[in-house]
Amino acid sequence: MIYFDHNATTSVHPEVLDTMMPFLAAQQGNPSSNHSFGRNVQTAIEEAREKVANSVNAHPSQVIFTSSGTESNNTIIHGICRSYPDSHFGFSSIEHPCISEPIKSIESRGFKNTQIPVDINGLLNVSALSNEEQKNITFLSVMMANNETGVIQDMPAIIKWAKSRNIQTHTDAVQAIGKINVDFEELGVDAMTISSHKIYGPQGAAALILNKKIDLYPHLMGGGQEKGLRSGTENIAAIVGFGKACERVQKNIVIINNEVKKYRLLLERELKGLGAVIFAEQTERLDNTTFFAFNNIDGSTLLTALDRKGYAIASGSACSSNSSDASHVLLAMGVEPELAQGALRVSLGIKTKEGEVKSFLEALKTEVSRLKQLTAMAA
Ligand code: PLP
Repeated sequence: MIYFDHNATTSVHPEVLDTMMPFLAAQQGNPSSNHSFGRNVQTAIEEAREKVANSVNAHPSQVIFTSSGTESNNTIIHGICRSYPDSHFGFSSIEHPCISEPIKSIESRGFKNTQIPVDINGLLNVSALSNEEQKNITFLSVMMANNETGVIQDMPAIIKWAKSRNIQTHTDAVQAIGKINVDFEELGVDAMTISSHKIYGPQGAAALILNKKIDLYPHLMGGGQEKGLRSGTENIAAIVGFGKACERVQKNIVIINNEVKKYRLLLERELKGLGAVIFAEQTERLDNTTFFAFNNIDGSTLLTALDRKGYAIASGSACSSNSSDASHVLLAMGVEPELAQGALRVSLGIKTKEGEVKSFLEALKTEVSRLKQLTAMAA
């Protein structure tokens, strides 16, 4: 099997696994316990916190460990609405559902929101909002890079715009970290989400990086862990692994921006030769991500055929759920629903080899011509 679904999850890097093993194999303490077992794991967590902070140029005291990117995103939205009851949430129309759904879920409690459109290139288009709509927003969440198209937003310009209006800001950097440089301090956002399993760390650990200016009401309460901002006994091995994975992000960026980029360009050249449409082709995108569709070829049929041949890729609609709906990201960009329905995503990883991409292209050519013939016969 060849794995081309690295935006969904990545394998644990061997160095990360080695770092985690002692914390899985032997008796560990609870970090809240006042004995040497407890103190040892508390120290391990603080070391991991420093590594996570360093990877995004934040201060360790700004790192709150959570269990997933989804939890971090829910924590910021629910926390803000408890701490700032007059909040009006702005978010882009291409956010991951773990931002858009919590925001929509609090409408019933009186919290207003404004969905900000994107243009045909997948870039945020604040000027499409009226002055009144722009004025209403008090808290803005915009993803740094999109999980489906790979489109990278112009975050410095977006944050500058928000700051000039005193808007609090959050960015979901889950797909950006490890693929492009992410700098919490320089960007000047108030909050940021990152997740371990997208960067060759284990599942079950993530972080919300929080500027001290934000007075956040906790989402999970009880044990008082993470300075009371996220109660619940820590997942020690996963947090330690997350720290190690964060130490490797600069190395991964170099691989992605060089070798992996070459493979993506090769892939896109050949895809276009076969008649595929590459979404947001002209926009600055993550170097590992290609989102494409063929007119008149059903995406899920092609995905299944490729899976049978040993290649794991994703369908647009399945990027965040098992839904068979067309990708909300493509629809927001104004792509025709029929074309959006057939969208497929290839996301390459740091261990992807040129030979794997070439053999995938051979399999793709065979399947595309077979499916085109079937379509022609049915017409
Ligand atoms: N945000 C983005 C942009 C994502 O791509 C994902 C996962 O695909 C998440 C958030 C959720 O992260 P997690 O899988 O750690 O809950």
